[in-house]
Amino acid sequence: EVRVRFAPSPTGPLHIGGVRTALYNYLFAKNHGGKFLLRIEDTDQNRYVPGAEDYIIESLKWLGLEPDEGVGYGGQHAPYRQSERKEIYAKYAQELIDSGNGYYAFDTPEELDQFRAEAEAKGQTFIYNSQNRNQLNNSLKLSADEIQSKIDTGIPYVIRFKIPANETILLDDLIRGKISIDSNTLDDKVLYKSDGMPTYHLANIVDDHLMEITHVIRGEEWLPSMPLHELLYKAFGWTAPKFSHLPLILKPEGKGKLSKRDGDKHGFPVFPLQWNTEEGIAKGYREEGYLSDAMVNMLALLGWNPGTEQEIFTLDELIQSFNLEKVSKSGARFNPEKTIWFNHQYIQQKSNEEILPEFNKVLNENGIDSSEEFNLQVIDLLKERVNFIKDIFTQGKFFFIAPETYAENAVKKAWKEDSAELLNEFAQELNSLKSFDHTTIHDKVQAFVAQKEIGFGKLMMPVRLSLVGDLQGPDVPLIMELLGKDEVVKRLNAIGN
Ligand code: GLU
Repeated sequence: EVRVRFAPSPTGPLHIGGVRTALYNYLFAKNHGGKFLLRIEDTDQNRYVPGAEDYIIESLKWLGLEPDEGVGYGGQHAPYRQSERKEIYAKYAQELIDSGNGYYAFDTPEELDQFRAEAEAKGQTFIYNSQNRNQLNNSLKLSADEIQSKIDTGIPYVIRFKIPANETILLDDLIRGKISIDSNTLDDKVLYKSDGMPTYHLANIVDDHLMEITHVIRGEEWLPSMPLHELLYKAFGWTAPKFSHLPLILKPEGKGKLSKRDGDKHGFPVFPLQWNTEEGIAKGYREEGYLSDAMVNMLALLGWNPGTEQEIFTLDELIQSFNLEKVSKSGARFNPEKTIWFNHQYIQQKSNEEILPEFNKVLNENGIDSSEEFNLQVIDLLKERVNFIKDIFTQGKFFFIAPETYAENAVKKAWKEDSAELLNEFAQELNSLKSFDHTTIHDKVQAFVAQKEIGFGKLMMPVRLSLVGDLQGPDVPLIMELLGKDEVVKRLNAIGN
């Protein structure tokens, strides 16, 4: 059975890069009829941010990417929060010591800084490994008793992984293919600290193993950790999962990793949900009026291509078509306009009834109380013109509130000396209509301009101005039908006076 996990650290709001990682894991799991887990990697207490975990869970919920197991969902491998699994990691750290794959190191941070500075002065990088570990302050030369007495006196230590010397490590990434690494370039990474906390590397490997993860799908920034992780699996005698490292999401300009600053600069969110801090509010896609399914569709294509021209995919279609072979190796440029385009497309696909609840909310916020039937018709007339549901109100305010002012430019263009008289006369004609549907209205308009021997615009521009307050909007007879006769006549008469 395929089992994958999304393993964020709760260090702040989820960036859309993280959301895409979750999505690809989700799609991969569902494509294989497997399981998608949520594990919270909170072993680094210094970087822990309250609220971040709930934010992650809520984001996945909003996007419809709910885990099958994990924090907030439970499951046979609970707990899924690493801070609740400390004893497990202690046991495996000890196992590495016992098997000779790990050792205690007592170097102080000052000593290590000193070595780093010395190496740097010689134009080198200090790597703690087979090249120098024998000269450093660790347990390799000490007897078991000596080690124990150091530990018992409370001298702070870490447990480091003993990277084998002079080995070529062969890696196989499902996206990047084969990679080979010289083990002498790797660091004896710290796996465990005397405060009883594992580092990311140990906790991550132990949990992936115990949670029976078959495929690790994660961001490119973790690729440098892959050789160490492979070696750790080997040291434990475990089979490693298959690895896939996803390409970066790049700035709209193309160069460099997409950051919050890019969003601020161009005015688009980089977070799924709004995030409030003392420094201010970071915008969220949800609050800005993006539809969750449009976001999912957009993110799916940010780094993966289906191999066809198709761009609009339901979640089920994404699940059917997704595969890791078609994930690109190179970075994917984020396109804020395309994101808006997706939102527009998804609004068109929704029925008026599906849009109604959100539209009602917008009306409510604007203190407007009108019937659902009327609102549905407004949605029907305007949805093809908008990118966001809230814009149905921005563009259709006149359906709910008669214009109080008229746009200056529009007046200049549409209003002539005899316009008031013309509208009065036309209003009377409309008043006498038995039926007020748009076809009847349309015929009346034709007859009226013919009889008056005037151009169509001479009548319709001031009419539109009187109804809308501007020269925009849908077809006038459609607007009239929806507003109803009394309201139309009232507006036609109001503008001249
Ligand atoms: N906790 C890591 C992160 O925040 C997980 C990396 C991984 O998936 O192995 O991205």
